[in-house]
Amino acid sequence: MLQTLEGGCLCGAVRYRITDQPIDAGYCHCRLCQRSSGAPSIAWLTVAITGFSYTRGAPSIFQSSAHSQREFCGACGTQIAFRQSQSAKTIDVTLASLEDPSQVLPQYHIWQQSKIAWFETADSLPRYKDAGPDTHEG
Ligand SMILES: [Zn+2]
Ligand SMILES: [Zn+2]
Repeated sequence: MLQTLEGGCLCGAVRYRITDQPIDAGYCHCRLCQRSSGAPSIAWLTVAITGFSYTRGAPSIFQSSAHSQREFCGACGTQIAFRQSQSAKTIDVTLASLEDPSQVLPQYHIWQQSKIAWFETADSLPRYKDAGPDTHEG
């Protein structure tokens, strides 16, 4: 059941479309996600790079580690995407920037080792102390 997903930043300057079935989705509790969002966790979906495109505007890019980058609206700051800087095959997209974030369900928690102690979600999803099933890192 392939469904096009749309989303964008808070101010509307950057919009995107997802035309492939997401591979998976989950919460990341790594410090880079926390610091780059100012929030305790980011929920991401992962999709093939060929299934993602910007449809309005262009993101600002921050090289957040040696091999990966974070893409966000340069006007309002909404973080939209994460990918390997070189020859990325997949891209991670923030669930909360979707027009309807309820369309994609998180399936796991990763980087539990840096989860903030006061932050807890009421679910029984698998929890991984490191990157777990995902390649999301940095
Ligand atoms: Zn914006
Ligand atoms: Zn993270």
